[in-house]
Amino acid sequence: MKRILITGGAGFVGSHLCERLLNEDNEVICLDNYFTGEKRNIAHLIGNPYFEVVRHDVTMPYFAEVDEIYNLACPASPIHYQFNAIKTIKTSVMGAINMLGLAKRTKARILQASTSEVYGDPKIHPQKETYWGHVNPIGIRSCYDEGKRCAETLFTDYHRQNGVDIKIIRIFNTYGPRMHPNDGRVVSNFIIQALKGEDITVYGEGSQTRSFQYVDDLVEGMVRMMATENFTGPVNIGNPNEFTIMELAEKVIKLTNSKSKIIHQPLPSDDPTQRQPDISLAKEKLNGWQPKIQLEEGLIKTIQYFENLLNEL
Ligand code: NAD
Ligand code: UDP
Repeated sequence: MKRILITGGAGFVGSHLCERLLNEDNEVICLDNYFTGEKRNIAHLIGNPYFEVVRHDVTMPYFAEVDEIYNLACPASPIHYQFNAIKTIKTSVMGAINMLGLAKRTKARILQASTSEVYGDPKIHPQKETYWGHVNPIGIRSCYDEGKRCAETLFTDYHRQNGVDIKIIRIFNTYGPRMHPNDGRVVSNFIIQALKGEDITVYGEGSQTRSFQYVDDLVEGMVRMMATENFTGPVNIGNPNEFTIMELAEKVIKLTNSKSKIIHQPLPSDDPTQRQPDISLAKEKLNGWQPKIQLEEGLIKTIQYFENLLNEL
């Protein structure tokens, strides 16, 4: 039995990962400061004798004896990571240093949840891991993008200098049950607006694109990446099916049978115009991994989740 630490374990992705690793007979320590995570996400796991929850901030050192670490702690939605930009960058950078120090001492394997944001507003399409990106270092998204880029540097240097066993994945837009209802990300915003019959807020013309991955496909990719030998990444984990934001809005309206109207609001600065992962490296290195759940199927499951949540509130 492995003891696995998941930072950001009470968040959207982290809670699914806790569940998966417990189901595979591991001992799981879920560490979170509850900035964007919620106890509700992990409530069903509490009581499992192999599950432990720790309220802790990754900007402070943490001591435990562990075999593996998944480092997910960091707000992921623009409104949340911009709420306290300095804290966001501290979380990525000091969090990485603290968790890498822990990995070095315990000889644990450590996986970093990096992001497609390291490519910024990309000039290469689709994005391959070899692309260095096009990132504004002083914009409103920089606290997140540059924090994650610096974390990748720290991971790589701890590997080169101290032989730490690292893995880096670059996650593309992921959605599913347990996204925070006030998270502000596009999928949760549109579904909640459609279910409440409110206007659907498309920022800009809605011609910008994203490629949406269902959370179960991401978790499968993370677990496979952790199990690789002689491969540090970075590797893209995402669904290559690309949609404009207008197409997403129309799909959500159709699937919810909603009477909501689409309205346009100003496009936030530095909003990437296109994003699509090239996943050939993931397919090659992760035993043929590829996303199994396409957008409509994933949206239906997510709509069901938010319908139940809104009925409870
Ligand atoms: P989330 O906001 O739901 O989860 C982040 C978790 O980290 C939350 O539980 C939050 O409370 C916790 N956290 C934040 N700051 C912390 C701190 N200082 N100390 C301890 N805990 C802290 O977001 P998510 O979508 O689940 O994202 C998880 C990880 O995956 C993040 O690192 C994010 O950058 C990365 N990622 C996610 C996506 C996506 O589309 N969901 C895309 C790219 C990368
Ligand atoms: N977006 C939108 N309406 C919303 C929320 C987001 O049109 O209510 C747009 C946003 O401008 C961006 C895309 O949807 O172009 C994805 O936004 P999200 O915050 O989900 O993720 P990110 O921009 O980090 O990929």
